[in-house]
Order: sequence, then C-alpha cells, then structure tokens
Amino acid sequence: METLWTQEEIKGLARAVYQYRQPRCPRCGNRIRGEFIRLGQRRTVPIDLHCDHCRLSAEYDPLEIEEQNFEWTESQKRLLVNQYRRQGQNVTCPEDGAYLVDMPSREQKDYFKLHCPHCGRRLVSSEVA
Ligand SMILES: [Zn+2]
Ligand SMILES: [Zn+2]
Repeated sequence: METLWTQEEIKGLARAVYQYRQPRCPRCGNRIRGEFIRLGQRRTVPIDLHCDHCRLSAEYDPLEIEEQNFEWTESQKRLLVNQYRRQGQNVTCPEDGAYLVDMPSREQKDYFKLHCPHCGRRLVSSEVA
C-alpha cells in the first residue's frame, strides 16, 4: 500500500519545481511531474505534483507565504535589477532559488517588474535606486 507524501516532502518537491529541477518521488524514485497552476490575481503560483508510477499526487499552495508580504532587502533588489538587465530572464530569488516571473514593459525598455512565484516577493525596476 502506498503511503502519502508528508507535508515536508511535498514542500521539498514543490521547491525543486520552482527551481526548475526535476524532483524524484520519495516513494518510488520516479520523476515527478510538476505543473504550475496559474491564477490571474495571485503573485504566487501553486503547483500540482504527480507521480505517474505510484499515482500519488498533491497540490502545493504557497498562499500563506504570499500573505505575509515578505520583501527583498534593498541590496537584494539592486542585485536582481542589475542581473535582469544583464541577462534578462533566468533570474532566481535570492531567498528560495525559485525562477522569477518577469513582466517587461513594451514601451519602456528599462521598466520591468519581477516577482517570485514561490514567496511572492516583488520589485518594480523604477523603484530601485
Ligand atoms: Zn512514486
Ligand atoms: Zn522567493
């Protein structure tokens, strides 16, 4: 009989998915499928986790983290802005390693917003000195 994943295991699997790694099922070692569930109004993005081998599945929702309205420090923000300007996309959250969601502006090349789909931290480029 299969045992469900524990909350800790679910957290770990979700964290890996936010980091674009492919986690393995703690029960059978099979690769987990992780799907982002995009919800319009939210900054954070819940994840659906499935193991096709042992048919376990779980949903991870970081709503509680988002609601705490954590913020990056000013120096973290400056670093992220510089990193994004340099490389565009593929910038990760310094707190949890999640790949950030970017919202560039079509009109203004140097204006953009970044937010973390895991912890909800965010910035607007024009507000970073
Ligand atoms: Zn499994
Ligand atoms: Zn984060």
